[in-house]
Amino acid sequence: MLTASSALLLLAIGGYAALCLLQPFATCRKCDGFGQRVRYRRNDTPKPGKVCRRCHGHGKRLRAGRRLHNHARRLHTDGTRTHPTDRKETPPWQ
Ligand SMILES: [Zn+2]
Repeated sequence: MLTASSALLLLAIGGYAALCLLQPFATCRKCDGFGQRVRYRRNDTPKPGKVCRRCHGHGKRLRAGRRLHNHARRLHTDGTRTHPTDRKETPPWQ
């Protein structure tokens, strides 16, 4: 029987999984989605700075849950045989 806390935990995990499915990308936390670091001139007007090293100028980052999903899917794909091997030919009596 599920207790209220475990049901709440399962609901939170399911919600995060749905969020990772619907919106796999989130705003970069380093540059706040701007893609580069904003510098200011001496008269306080903004000028473009260096490209953000974390998001490479895209302003988006892949969520941790989606990165975990992609890794698991890639691991499954690499471990699954896609082409039939020649050793498993059907015997002549079948
Ligand atoms: Zn960034």
